[in-house]
Amino acid sequence: MSKLSVVIWNENVHEQVNADVKKIYPHGIHYAIAEGVRSRDSDGLLEVSTATLEQPEHGLSEERLEKTDVLFWWGHRAHGEVDDKIVDRVQQRVLAGMGLVVLHSAHFSKIFKRLMGTSCALKWREAGERERLWVVNPGHPIVRGIGKCVELENAEMYGEPFGIPTPDEQVFISWFEGGEVFRSGCCWMRGNGKIFYFRPGHETYPVFHNAQIHQILYNAALWAAPQGAWDDVMNARNVSVEKAREKIRKKGVSLHSENEEGFK
Ligand code: ZN
Repeated sequence: MSKLSVVIWNENVHEQVNADVKKIYPHGIHYAIAEGVRSRDSDGLLEVSTATLEQPEHGLSEERLEKTDVLFWWGHRAHGEVDDKIVDRVQQRVLAGMGLVVLHSAHFSKIFKRLMGTSCALKWREAGERERLWVVNPGHPIVRGIGKCVELENAEMYGEPFGIPTPDEQVFISWFEGGEVFRSGCCWMRGNGKIFYFRPGHETYPVFHNAQIHQILYNAALWAAPQGAWDDVMNARNVSVEKAREKIRKKGVSLHSENEEGFK
């Protein structure tokens, strides 16, 4: 069996301009996530690589996305700099079956908002408070090996209400020291693609050096893997009378010509 191709995408902006962030993630958050996911992959199931905003086509050429099984997305400051053409491309790949793991502040990324169709807004506070990330779906593949909860000593608070469509599956709910709660791990299907939103992160805390977080991200990569392929997902095809599986006779008038290929 060929390995799952996992691409970790990062805007890679705060790591370049903020000394505190650079200290925690000297090679960028994408590097830490890639290393973390690889560290759990003792079975060698994944081929993990990275891509960043500044690369041509943001590192997400058609050829590369075509071969990508699961895409991780980190963005914060530069959501607006992501080319709409690339957003279209990623959306189409998700609809065709590629998995998407959306991290922390990427709740406001173009691609997540596009796929959700809602505001994706939330409350936040940057006070380094404790987060308890409760597993609310113990049988779910994403929480394999995690136990009851993950304790993060320093976290940015995200609070409800979170402007998302009701998740197909709820995996985590967070409690914060200041009293708020948040739906921190949510799953959806869009077309053939699986989407997982995972809240923990933030550039000034070493969340992506935490072994439990690595395990969750690894589990998420396996969970989000394509279950099948629907290459022609964006087309509505005309099947002519002659091509019907059973012999039929045309009745009534038609709006479209018999050999018209697609829906107009
Ligand atoms: Zn943050």
